[in-house]
Amino acid sequence: MTTPCPTPHFAIAIDGPAASGKSTLAHQLAKRLGLVMVNSGAMYRAVTWQVLQHNIDPNDHAAVLALLGRLHLECGDDGLSSTITINGHDPGDALRSEAVNANVSTIAAIPEVRAKLVALQREYLTRTNVVMEGRDIGSVVFPDTPFKIYIDAAAHVRAARRTNMGEIDSVAQRDAADSQRATAPLVIAAGAAILDNSDHTIEGSVSAALDILKRQGLPI
Ligand code: C5P
Repeated sequence: MTTPCPTPHFAIAIDGPAASGKSTLAHQLAKRLGLVMVNSGAMYRAVTWQVLQHNIDPNDHAAVLALLGRLHLECGDDGLSSTITINGHDPGDALRSEAVNANVSTIAAIPEVRAKLVALQREYLTRTNVVMEGRDIGSVVFPDTPFKIYIDAAAHVRAARRTNMGEIDSVAQRDAADSQRATAPLVIAAGAAILDNSDHTIEGSVSAALDILKRQGLPI
């Protein structure tokens, strides 16, 4: 009988709703702590982008699953952030298009899509230490990590952030779908500390997060 080999690497999990500042915080923490920042949302966006490129209805599960079987996702990193190619293509800015924003929650609710992407997310830990941001990182992907932050901000602050980025994104609709789905909904993971950054500068959020991580036992 073989016992699973525990990975020598660790994960910091950052979860929260759309436009809560997860990516900005995760990037800053990765830079300061020398970790790789992994944007798990980009993986769900990449699959959604391919579904739309193939003119598949995101609600047609059978067609989405048939495509999923043919999709080869390569998830790597450039030393600081995660990178992704899908069937050899770098999706680039297409991941942030209005169409992807509008359909990604439908694709992310499909259990088989999640299973494929969670496996790729866990693989990072065989190679490197990560700060990974998403919706289910502390609850499903790395439930055993002691380092978990749930980041949030008032709804009007989050909606304004997206508009200021020049993106058309129905943040409230995505949050409702992401919180209400049956598989791996957005929740505050057991053991996560809540960080509300509605009134924080970026520097203020980073320093609050570092305090939380110290309290959770990260040796910094
Ligand atoms: O983080 P971002 O807003 O780019 O995520 C896009 C979408 O991907 C989310 O609205 C959600 O539907 C899905 N997602 C998820 N689980 C994750 C990360 C993202 O379901 N861990």
